[in-house]
Amino acid sequence: MKRRDFIKTAAFAGALAGGTAAAFPAPAIAKGLRKWNMTTTWPKNFPGLGTGAAKIAEFITKASDGRLSVDVYGAGELVPAFDAIDAVGNGSVEMGHGASYYWKGKTPAAQFISSIPFGLVAQEQNAWIYYGGGQALCDEVYATMGCKFFSGGNSGTQMGGWYNREINSIADYKGLKLRMPGLGGEVARAAGATVVNIPGGELLTSMQSGTIDALEWVGPYNDLAFGFHKAAKYYYYPGWHEPNAILDCFVNLKAFGELPADLQEIVTIACQAATVNMTSEMAARSGSALARLRGEFKVDVRPFPREVLKELKTLSRKVINDIAAGDALSQKILASLEKFQKEQMDYTDIAERAMLDARAL
Ligand code: CA
Repeated sequence: MKRRDFIKTAAFAGALAGGTAAAFPAPAIAKGLRKWNMTTTWPKNFPGLGTGAAKIAEFITKASDGRLSVDVYGAGELVPAFDAIDAVGNGSVEMGHGASYYWKGKTPAAQFISSIPFGLVAQEQNAWIYYGGGQALCDEVYATMGCKFFSGGNSGTQMGGWYNREINSIADYKGLKLRMPGLGGEVARAAGATVVNIPGGELLTSMQSGTIDALEWVGPYNDLAFGFHKAAKYYYYPGWHEPNAILDCFVNLKAFGELPADLQEIVTIACQAATVNMTSEMAARSGSALARLRGEFKVDVRPFPREVLKELKTLSRKVINDIAAGDALSQKILASLEKFQKEQMDYTDIAERAMLDARAL
């Protein structure tokens, strides 16, 4: 079934039955049992990301003793990857899992939530969401798309990506065909790259066919799973474009509002647990994956030159401010993040960063 037909059919069936939940048998509803679908932007059960989405569904189903059971679908099974926000916003699917920057075409401010180039790392980003006013701002952005926002995972600091051309100076971005979503992609575009966004499942063949010269995905664990080392010469770090990346779990506003308070709490806590769990899993598995990439596959792992990073950082500030300038909500989020980052940097510089330096002595 084509996506439009699916949404039309689902919306029609929902309208007839008075809401998606009514597709569930009447005796089940009478017992307070609900069944939701979750559409994701990942291949089903893709390591770390797809499995992270599946863990949210599993936790909700188990913790509610089946009063709210959630079925997970991979990209394309219900709707194509990048149509997930529309399907959840219009209520044909109750829940979705992806990344905020995928929705910038609908709400520009969404791209400021995922990650800011040279911005917060995962622990700082969680601190902003849970204790720095981030949740309310994210909810404001997602409400414009008919959804409630939850952080549904975090990749931690990403890698710079896989390149078939060397990056020795900022000029090497000129004409580079690069897959890089989000604000980082806009910065790379400003540096002269031809930037595209391609779903994860199509990246390896795009690189092998030469459609792109370079790509970024996540980090060693996820990148090894896709096999990018088979198609690229160099593996660059750090992921200046995504110092952390929140994954979003978005819920249809009306469907969330109709849940009793205890089920709302279960959904909320499931997403918090998934955020911490994913960061932990990514960290644990990336260590061993990096060892394999270096040892078994002899991957050339190299840093971006310091001068390139400095120039990208300067460019980032200008590009990000220019993008935010056109949209009041984007400006509001950026201002909040920048204030928070300034305070955090004072602290994390003498805490984590100083400790990591000390540990490496
Ligand atoms: Ca990425």
